[in-house]
Amino acid sequence: MTAELVWFKRDLRITDHSPLIAAARRGQVICLYIYEPDLIGADDFSKRHLLFINDSLTELDRDLRRLGSRLLIRRGDAVDVLNSLRIETGFHCIRAHQETTNALSYQRDRAVKNWARSAGIDFIEYRQQGVVRAMTSRDGWARQWQGFVTSPLVGRPGQIIDGGAGLTGLGVQSPESFALKDDGLINRQTGGESEAIKVLNSFLSDRSREYLQGLSSPLTAWDSCSRLSPYLTYGNISLRTLYQRVTQRKRELQLQRGQRDSWSQSLSNYVERLAWRCHFIQKLEDEPAIEFDNMNPAFNGLREDEFNPAHFEAWAAGRTGYPLIDACMRALQQTGWINFRMRAMLISFASYHLWLHWRKPALQLARLFTDYEPGIHYSQIQMQAGTTGISALRIYSPIKQAIDQDPEGRFIRQWVPELMEVPDDFIAEPHRMPEPIQQRSGCIIDRDYPAPIVDHLSAYRASQKRMRAANLAAKASGVSSRVFQRHGSRRHQKSR
Ligand SMILES: Cc1cc2nc3c(=O)[nH]c(=O)nc-3n(C[C@H](O)[C@H](O)[C@H](O)COP(=O)(O)OP(=O)(O)OC[C@H]3O[C@@H](n4cnc5c(N)ncnc54)[C@H](O)[C@@H]3O)c2cc1C
Repeated sequence: MTAELVWFKRDLRITDHSPLIAAARRGQVICLYIYEPDLIGADDFSKRHLLFINDSLTELDRDLRRLGSRLLIRRGDAVDVLNSLRIETGFHCIRAHQETTNALSYQRDRAVKNWARSAGIDFIEYRQQGVVRAMTSRDGWARQWQGFVTSPLVGRPGQIIDGGAGLTGLGVQSPESFALKDDGLINRQTGGESEAIKVLNSFLSDRSREYLQGLSSPLTAWDSCSRLSPYLTYGNISLRTLYQRVTQRKRELQLQRGQRDSWSQSLSNYVERLAWRCHFIQKLEDEPAIEFDNMNPAFNGLREDEFNPAHFEAWAAGRTGYPLIDACMRALQQTGWINFRMRAMLISFASYHLWLHWRKPALQLARLFTDYEPGIHYSQIQMQAGTTGISALRIYSPIKQAIDQDPEGRFIRQWVPELMEVPDDFIAEPHRMPEPIQQRSGCIIDRDYPAPIVDHLSAYRASQKRMRAANLAAKASGVSSRVFQRHGSRRHQKSR
């Protein structure tokens, strides 16, 4: 009997991996990962993504070897790689997880399915997100999600009979071999299944205690947030495992500390976010075009012709003259992560203050986020840029956010060292420093740190006026209610 093939993509783990378990139960298994130059060379991919994938592959190979198998690594177009493996081994079945990612992966999956059909190969896909394929209505989505995340885990295979013995594969591939440039990353999260479990354990045993209180400020979010996002993106941990570990911990805390205890309430709030994750990915599943086009076509033409490249460059470089914006951007460049509120503020600033169309800023952030997950990313970007027409207009003030979330400027000073000696009173708006204070703090505006590239209040008012008019027109045309029918949450949504 010939081997079955398990194709690992964004599911780099062995625990709760349904394709692997199913194939291992049937006989010999070839475990395959393909480095796909088309995906790696795309505008939304960067070196930090590859480094995280490489960590994950190294551990996956080690874990598979412990079970008697190994990871076969190849490089090339997916159909070409699968076709040559088919000639070498005669495999008859591919098992893999469903994916909802970018357009390139979607086209790749379609090409693989067509090839498999014509070659007479079974291509069996399994769910790993609470996303529903070919959904006809959003009604009842939450119930389906709940059913998926509470379904039984499949554990780990006890052993795997290697169907790939004698096949030649590659080792992990360097970023340089794909011409991926250095992008300023200094302190990154390490990938891999064991790392995911370590991060989860530290969250559940301690860090989640202050989750709700800590998630908004960039000072506290580094520890209070779970930091599990890249592990979910690359499937180092399954959503079901995460959901079930968190709800079990919540029950333990409720027993120990009572139903209304703030720690278990934090975990309830966390679980809601896991549902948001799939709610947002579902939008891309239902309408892949939102990677490129406005979710609400009534907003077409609103910003397209007004893109100011110098403003975009200043925003991307963390040199806007707004300290919290610049600190977030620089932190992101060096670490690959920033918390939700600051992500929203970065896009709000690009979209409203700088009036930039969202597509280029979205790609810039996609390359910087280690956890880049297209379904969440494009849906959130469009929501924060105001092009969905189905959520409240929210324009973040970078000054108010600095005062609220970093009142002493500790985060700002950490990432924008030229502001180190600026007094607290001026840290949110250093351009307001009188000249003698600029001299004393060693920070001359326009020499050591830029003056604001736009005036906050006038930019805020102008964009608010334009957005209100555009929203009214979108509503009146009936387009917004059609967008809601297709993508809107059927539950009351809190501020996201
Ligand atoms: C403009 C913008 C772009 C974003 N792009 C991404 C992205 O590419 N990848 C990504 O994983 N998240 C994205 N997010 C959502 C959110 O900011 C991150 O999931 C979160 O900061 C990741 O850190 P964490 O795992 O510590 O979060 P936690 O607060 O610990 O949340 C746990 C998990 O819940 C999910 N989640 C949390 N908040 C949200 C949310 N608002 N919407 C959807 N899912 C959520 C994520 O899977 C997250 O890992 C984006 C948000 C904004 C505003």
